[in-house]
Amino acid sequence: MNGQQPAFASWLDDTNEITRMFLGASQIPDLVNLAGGLPESSTFPTADLAELANRAIAENGADALAYSPIEGNPALRDRIAARFGSERLKLDRSNVLIVAGGMQGLDLVGKVLLDSGDIVAAQTPAYLGALDAWRPRQPRYRPFFPDQPRFDPRHAFSDAKFAYTVPNFSNPTGKLVGTDVRQAMVRAALELGTWVLEDDPYGSLYYDHSPLNRMIDIAGSVGADIYRGPVIYMGTFSKTICPGLRIGWVIARPDMIEALTIAKQGTDLCTSGLNQQIAVDLLDAGLVEKNLPRILSTYKERRDVLCAALEKYLGDHFEWEVPVGGMFVWAVARSPDMNTDDLLKFSLDHGVCVSPSSVFDPDGADRSGIRINFTYNAPDRLTEGVRRLARAVEAMTG
Ligand code: PMP
Repeated sequence: MNGQQPAFASWLDDTNEITRMFLGASQIPDLVNLAGGLPESSTFPTADLAELANRAIAENGADALAYSPIEGNPALRDRIAARFGSERLKLDRSNVLIVAGGMQGLDLVGKVLLDSGDIVAAQTPAYLGALDAWRPRQPRYRPFFPDQPRFDPRHAFSDAKFAYTVPNFSNPTGKLVGTDVRQAMVRAALELGTWVLEDDPYGSLYYDHSPLNRMIDIAGSVGADIYRGPVIYMGTFSKTICPGLRIGWVIARPDMIEALTIAKQGTDLCTSGLNQQIAVDLLDAGLVEKNLPRILSTYKERRDVLCAALEKYLGDHFEWEVPVGGMFVWAVARSPDMNTDDLLKFSLDHGVCVSPSSVFDPDGADRSGIRINFTYNAPDRLTEGVRRLARAVEAMTG
């Protein structure tokens, strides 16, 4: 032995240093972190969850503490089917897979659909976690931009293994995809025979717009006994209850659920039975509906505070749309000379941290924008963060 072990897999070379830099930034004292997509922890229903956790162990310990079926606790699968099903969208347990957070759903879809070099049509800028999840599969990306006036999903989706979209308040842009574009994307998927991944962690976080139909609702189960459409829908409790529960769900055609189940077997055998039992009980107790109003009022106020501070301190350098939901404002530099990777370095020196657009670009090339989170910090910290960011911009450009 000469101390040389075999090399790490090649995909590990294909990452970016920016992500590591901003994750490491949490160690900096007094930093205002506007980079992460984190919820406000005081919105977690801790007292209710403590009671439900206690009950799950005391009353259902034998099941909750054992391995659960790979597909998930049958009672939870039934409740998700009932919650999302309708006259138009007939769902049963065979349409539902319980996963350890939406992130696992993304990973499993990559596992079952992608061979190296396959094409993923991705709404761009794209969620960094999805790009991370699929990196080991080495797909090729075809970016698409649903808000462009002449966006044609038939062109964008052709030859793709699947199309990836976050129609409710995309991460990173906070943009809402309109109903006509949702319909066009579903039509294109049906015509082309491709899959569409509808990733919907923010679907409950509408602040001042009435909720639009989900793409899976648009696809529906018309004419079939249960849903057999091309949309693979993903949801999670991370934004409405808490991310630490690590409970999400995939709703799809039964054959897709079976394939994902085989993939999940090789990933973690099953999602935590205890957390699934808590999820059953929290749905029965109406905890999402009870918790949501407080989340919505807290986040709406913070969005307004952030946008007011941006207007006051950074309006000369950036432009943005006020998002009608979600967790992020996407600000695009007015000057083509602004490099937001460089701005991240300057902003860390000024005690604030934002996410640069390069990490949301499948090619890593976009240096024109920043994602700013408004849910994690209290209003005064948000304003202070923007003030610091403005100083960083001045230091960089001045
Ligand atoms: N998809 C998107 C677009 C997200 O923003 C997130 C969380 N930041 C996830 C999926 C994953 O969420 P979780 O694993 O916590 O359910």
